[in-house]
Amino acid sequence: MTLIRGALGIFTGLPGCSMRAAGSIRIVDGRIAAIGALEREPGERVIDATGCVIYPGLVSTHHHLFQCVLKGVRTGIDAPLLAWLQAVPFSYWHKIDEQALRTAARIGLVELLLSGTTTAVDELKVVADSARRMGVRIHGHLSETMADVDFCLAAYGKRPVQWMADHDYLGPDVWLAHLVHVDGEEIRILAETGTGMSHCPQSNCRLGSGIAPAERLAALGGTVSLAVDGAASNESADMISEMNSAWHTHRATQGAAAVSIEDVVRWASANGARVLGFDDAGVIAPGKLADLAIFDLSHPRYFGLHDPLIGPVASAGSAHLRHLIIGGRTVVEDGEIPGLDLAKLRRDATDVVARLAA
Ligand code: ZN
Repeated sequence: MTLIRGALGIFTGLPGCSMRAAGSIRIVDGRIAAIGALEREPGERVIDATGCVIYPGLVSTHHHLFQCVLKGVRTGIDAPLLAWLQAVPFSYWHKIDEQALRTAARIGLVELLLSGTTTAVDELKVVADSARRMGVRIHGHLSETMADVDFCLAAYGKRPVQWMADHDYLGPDVWLAHLVHVDGEEIRILAETGTGMSHCPQSNCRLGSGIAPAERLAALGGTVSLAVDGAASNESADMISEMNSAWHTHRATQGAAAVSIEDVVRWASANGARVLGFDDAGVIAPGKLADLAIFDLSHPRYFGLHDPLIGPVASAGSAHLRHLIIGGRTVVEDGEIPGLDLAKLRRDATDVVARLAA
């Protein structure tokens, strides 16, 4: 048994007023056993969360880990999507050997862990019938730029979401990345079919693709999750930055009431688990897996906060993660990943980038 105590507050990922909780968290057999005013039991391990806030372990629902060794490629840094695809992933893919892929995956997963992420999806491709036969959920890109929409209209006489609906490619077992250029009817179809969105605001902003109408899909009862997308169009894989970006971009265009911090934290936790079909994850509640991100607010950035719970998102910058727990197992301890040789990973990254650039 483990008792986490002393935290300034807890974001649970649950709806409404249940989003906020206080007190301690007890973990038994990898799951949350209790939350609230709890006393240490004999022999119980204690994790000190004094000066910290606790979020559900974050869930990134779209990534391309191989891109973690293709950050900031100069020929693609100012290019829009199609030119960027040619300049970066398509130009380097044939050079990504086993060592490059292993190093890239380690970089991406380490970044995700250190930003409080406990579940992540890397995108692979299978056609939809096979996925359903295997019981695997269906995922892909859609309507990232207007080029997708223009192609679909020219080739099929309909917009992409309608084409997907006509081909039985929507539903609660499907989630789609981007969905930047969807009209009102497409948003309604996505909500009605229970099709999830992987919202990638940083990548969309970086490539100049636009802003996905995530808040409109959410308002219709659709499921919006958050994701870092590939690091070649993001330059990082940091879910805290992604939440901050989502919070900012929608308010910049739709006003301050468009999206709350509670909304983006739910997108990055409970909704991510929902689109993946992981019913046991994504929220902090008794019976759920003990996937917990404990953020330290001792950095001066957080001094003066009236509402400490919003600090990691509102104050932006890199997360100061004290501990990360996955299924009751501590994988980040005092800000470090036990057993990880970070200096070696940095050397490996430098070597791979030099080989790719040669
Ligand atoms: Zn992608």
